[in-house]
Amino acid sequence: MSVSHETRDGVAIVTLQNPPVNGLGLATRRGLVEALAHALADASVEAIVVTGGARAFSGGADIRELNRPESGMEPTLPTVIAAFENSSKPVVAAIEGLALGGGLELALGMHHRVAGSRAQIGLPEVKLGLLPGAGGTQRLPRAVGLETAVNMIISGAPVAAGKLAQSRLFDRVVDTDVVQAAIEVAKEAAASGELHKVRDWTVEHPEAAVFLASARTAVAAASAHYPAPLRCLDAIEAAVNLPFDQGIETERAAFADLIQTPESKALRHAFFSERAAGKIADVGADVAVREVKQVGVVGAGTMGAGISMNFLNAGIPVTLLETSQDALDRGLATIRRNYEGSAKKGKLTAEQVEQRMGLLTPTLEYADLKHADLIVEAVFEEYSVKESVFSQLDAVARPGAILASNTSTLDVDRIAAFTGRPQDVLGLHFFSPANVMKLLEVVRGKATAKDVLATVMALSKKIGKTAVVSGVCDGFIGNRMIEQYSRQAGFLLDEGALPQQIDRAMEAFGFAMGPFRMGDLAGNDIGWAIRKRRYVEKPHMTYSKTADLLCELGRYGQKTGAGWYDYRPGDRTAHPSQLVNELIERHSTDIGLVRRAISDGEIVERLVYALVNEGAQLLQEDIASKASDIDIVYLAGYGFPVWRGGPMFYADTVGLDKVVAAMRRYGKGHEGAAWEPAPLLLQLAEAGRTFNP
Ligand code: NAD
Repeated sequence: MSVSHETRDGVAIVTLQNPPVNGLGLATRRGLVEALAHALADASVEAIVVTGGARAFSGGADIRELNRPESGMEPTLPTVIAAFENSSKPVVAAIEGLALGGGLELALGMHHRVAGSRAQIGLPEVKLGLLPGAGGTQRLPRAVGLETAVNMIISGAPVAAGKLAQSRLFDRVVDTDVVQAAIEVAKEAAASGELHKVRDWTVEHPEAAVFLASARTAVAAASAHYPAPLRCLDAIEAAVNLPFDQGIETERAAFADLIQTPESKALRHAFFSERAAGKIADVGADVAVREVKQVGVVGAGTMGAGISMNFLNAGIPVTLLETSQDALDRGLATIRRNYEGSAKKGKLTAEQVEQRMGLLTPTLEYADLKHADLIVEAVFEEYSVKESVFSQLDAVARPGAILASNTSTLDVDRIAAFTGRPQDVLGLHFFSPANVMKLLEVVRGKATAKDVLATVMALSKKIGKTAVVSGVCDGFIGNRMIEQYSRQAGFLLDEGALPQQIDRAMEAFGFAMGPFRMGDLAGNDIGWAIRKRRYVEKPHMTYSKTADLLCELGRYGQKTGAGWYDYRPGDRTAHPSQLVNELIERHSTDIGLVRRAISDGEIVERLVYALVNEGAQLLQEDIASKASDIDIVYLAGYGFPVWRGGPMFYADTVGLDKVVAAMRRYGKGHEGAAWEPAPLLLQLAEAGRTFNP
C-alpha cells in the first residue's frame, strides 16, 4: 500500500507510504488519485490533508522508475496535480522532512501548505540537466516571488521552510505537530468555502524585466556548458509574462528539449553511475557489515595526515602511528594547520577544530592499535616497509580488524600475504589531498572477504567519499588509464605540439586542468620514478623522453618553482617556458622527427581515446566490473567534464566505430606512438554496441 487514508473529525488524512522518501512512482500516483476520489465521495469529509510522515512529504519522482514505462503511465504527475488543484474540497499539504522536485510541485497544486520549519524545500531538477516539468517553474515564482524562485530553480539547492515562512508558499510554518496544524488550516478553509489556487496568483516583482535581464547575463556566464539553467529562466520568464496555461506550455517544451540534450544524458548517467558504483555484483545487501568505531592510521606523511582527517571529520577516533616523534609531530602539525585554515575561512568553529583534534591519539607503539576496527597504512611505497608494517599489524590487530593499504602501485595480494589473514586485507587508494578529493578506489584482493568490502563501501559514504571497486593491478583504474593519456601527451610534444597548446585543448574540452599543468601540480618526479621502473620491467613500453629531460633539470613542478612551465614566487600561475619549449623542439630533432602543426582536435582525440582504450582493457581484465565505474573514477578523481559523462560514456556518444577509426588513423604516425585498439573496443565497435548498456 503506497497511500493510506483515514478520516479524523471531518478531515480526510491521506498519507503517502512509499519509503524511503515517498517517491512518486506509478502505484503512489494511483493511490493519491484514489484516496482523493474516496474523500470527495465521502459526504462526512469536508477537507483533505495530505502528509508523508516525519521523514519526507515527498522526495519527487521515484528514481527506481526513471527510464521505465511506468514513469510515463497515467496518472502522470501533472494529472495528479490537476486532480488535487480541481478538488471541490480544500486540500492542505502537511510538509515535514523533504518536499523536493515533483514532491514540491504536488504540494504547489494543493490549496494550502503547512510545513515544519526545518523541512527542506527545493526543485533540484537542474542538477540532472532538466527543469521541473510538472508546473514548478510556473507555480513556485507565484508562491515565493521571482528572485527566490530564480535562486532555488537555477541552483537546485534546497531551502529550509523556515526561511520561506514569510512567503505565500506556506500558510503556516510551525515547530509543533505539522499534521495537527494542517488539520486546523483545512477546517478554516472548509469554513470559508474558498479554494485558493497558486495558478491564479501573479508573480510579484517591482522590476521583473530588469531583474530577469541581469539574471540571464549571470546565468549565461556561469553555465556555459549547461543548457538547462537558461531554459529554466525562459520558463520562469513565461510565468511572469504569460497566462498560466501558456507558461505551462513553455515549461513542457523546454523539458522535452532538455531531456534529449547530451548534457542531461551525461548528468543522469553520472547520477546513476555513482549509485551503481556502491553496489558490488556478488556482495548482496544481506552481507552484514563490520562495525567501525575506531580507526588506526600508520604513517603521518602527506597521505596519512589527510586520511586521518576524513575519519576525524566524521567523528571517528583515530590513532596515528609513526616511527619517530619528529615525524609524528609533523603529521599532527599538518592536520592542525589544515583545520585552522578551514576555521579561518569560516568553515569550522574554533571549538570544532579542538573537537576533531581531541579525537586524534598520536603514538609510536603498535600495541596502541589493538582496539582499532580498521587500520589504514600510508607508509613509504616499498614492499620491505609494507612487509614490516603488515606483519606487525597482524601481530597486534584484533581478530576481524580490517587492514588496508593506501599503496598506489604495489600488489595488494602480495601485501595481504604478509599477514596470516588475507581475507581482512584490501587496498584503500585515497587521492591527494586525501581530505579533499572525493574519489576512493577500493582495491579488492583475491582473498578479500565480502563483508570487508561491504563495510568499507558503507564507511566510504559516511566519510563523504565516492568509492569505486578496482581489481589488483599496477595503477588500479585511474592511474593505469592516466599513464596512457600522459604517454600520448608526451608523443604529441615529440611530434610538434607544446605543453600550453595541449593544456589549452584539453581545458577547452572541459578538463579541469590539462596534463602538463596537472603534472606540475602533482610533481613530475612521481611519473619519472614510475618510468624508471618501467624501463626495467617493461622495456617494450615506449615513452617520450621529454619528461625525463625536464626532471633531469630538477624541474619537478610547482614545488621546485619550475616544471613544464615557469612559476614566479608565491604565484601558481603557469607561464610558458622558453627553455622548456626549446628543449622539446631540440628533442624532436634529436630523434629525427620533423615537427608538424597538430590540431586541437587531434590532441583531444588522442588523449581521450587513450583513456578509453585502457578503460576497455580494464573491463576485459575484469579490473573494473562495469564501464560506469570507470566513468565515476574519472569524474570524481581526474577532473573529466561531468557534462560529458566520463570517458566511456563519451566514447559511446561519439560511436565506438569512430573511436576505432581515429585510433587507427593516428596509430600510423610516429612509430614509437603506435597503438592498437583493445580487443573489447574492437568487438563492441564491430557489433555496433556501446560500453554502457
Ligand atoms: P610520505 O613520504 O609523505 O609519508 C610516509 C610516512 O610514513 C612518513 O611520515 C614516514 O615517516 C612514515 N613511515 C615510513 N615507514 C614507516 C613505518 N614503518 N611505520 C610507520 N610510519 C612509517 O608518503 P605519502 O605520499 O604519504 O605516501 C604514503 C603511501 O600512500 C604510499 O604507499 C604512496 O604510494 C601512497 N599514495 C600516495 C599518494 C600521493 O599523492 N602522495 C597518493 C595515493 C597514494
